[in-house]
Amino acid sequence: MVIEERAMPPIIKTEQCTKCGQCVDICTEDVFYGSKKGEVPVVTYPRECVHFNGCVDACPVPGAITLRIPLPVMLAFKPEVEEDIV
Ligand code: SF4
Repeated sequence: MVIEERAMPPIIKTEQCTKCGQCVDICTEDVFYGSKKGEVPVVTYPRECVHFNGCVDACPVPGAITLRIPLPVMLAFKPEVEEDIV
């Protein structure tokens, strides 16, 4: 597998982003390295993303940032709110 195929970084919709920087602050890796306060974050090191979804959970604007979760990681992925299983 080529490394670039595994790199599934967050996607920020610049038209929705309020430039609050909360996704940058919560990220434990260097994904947003070099991002500046008051500007739309830059995805500098997409391969550093560990897909823990903190950036999506921290974002105050639903849909402004999304994370593409790789299939193998989906096996361990738990949504913030579990839906009722009927
Ligand atoms: S948390 Fe959401 S609104 Fe704030 S900078 Fe990140 S993507 Fe933009």
